[in-house]
Amino acid sequence: MPEFDISRPTIARVYDALLGGKDNFAPDREGAAAYVKYVPNAGDCAKENRQALVKGVRYMANKGIDQFLDIGAGLPTMENTHQVAQSVNPDARVVYVDNDPIVLAHGRALLATNDNTTVITADLRDPRDILDHPEIKELLDFSRPIGLMVVGLHMHFHDEEQPDEWVRVLLDACPSGSYLFITDFVDTGEPLQKGMEKAGLESLGNGWIRTPERITEHFLGLPLVEPGLDFLARWFPEEPDKEVPAAEDLKPYQRILMAGIGYKA
Ligand code: SAM
Repeated sequence: MPEFDISRPTIARVYDALLGGKDNFAPDREGAAAYVKYVPNAGDCAKENRQALVKGVRYMANKGIDQFLDIGAGLPTMENTHQVAQSVNPDARVVYVDNDPIVLAHGRALLATNDNTTVITADLRDPRDILDHPEIKELLDFSRPIGLMVVGLHMHFHDEEQPDEWVRVLLDACPSGSYLFITDFVDTGEPLQKGMEKAGLESLGNGWIRTPERITEHFLGLPLVEPGLDFLARWFPEEPDKEVPAAEDLKPYQRILMAGIGYKA
């Protein structure tokens, strides 16, 4: 079992605290409190992000995707990628990747009985290490379409780090028919969005917001499936014609994250 530094907050554990989970320590709860100070509904934002994850995975699974590479997977919580994917196709394969070793420890326990799912400790900053990882090579077949997930992760990197270039390496390894699923913090000029950024910078030292145009660039030129990039509460890829509230009628906290899925033709 890897050693954990519990003296400082980590993204995975702060997020777990915001979701009401139990896999966190006092500094993580203080980090979560910093979010709540600036964004009182920060916990609801985290829950909406999880709901969006479920919507995105179900969409891809129903399109026939049976292999998922979930980068920055986070600690196991209510409905995780493999549960959603395997509820559509029991043979679906899922590899969870996270650079926080606590995810491996808790994920392994959850997955002890699931042969089609694994968790590895690896870093998006080293995408080639991810692709070369023996457990990825064993479980995923890169000659067939992959559901590549980078959900709730880009905000933790500054633009100067060029996170899109790491994702490009992974996407290049995925064949045509694959999808790229992303959620990110958005900047449409609202004070609460700025509050989310302040909270992240204060508690974790990262958590930047981006314009929708900049988020669109994360998709590396792939066309987006309907309804395109939108606020989570308006984003229903399986029901693109569903009647959704106008953006201005959402609660301000519901205008902090956007989701989209790109398709590699
Ligand atoms: N994807 C999940 C979701 O949307 O519910 C969890 C999102 S959580 C906000 C971000 C996760 O990314 C954390 O578990 C964190 O440990 C992980 N992470 C942060 N930096 C990473 C990196 N460089 N490589 C891999 N994972 C990373």
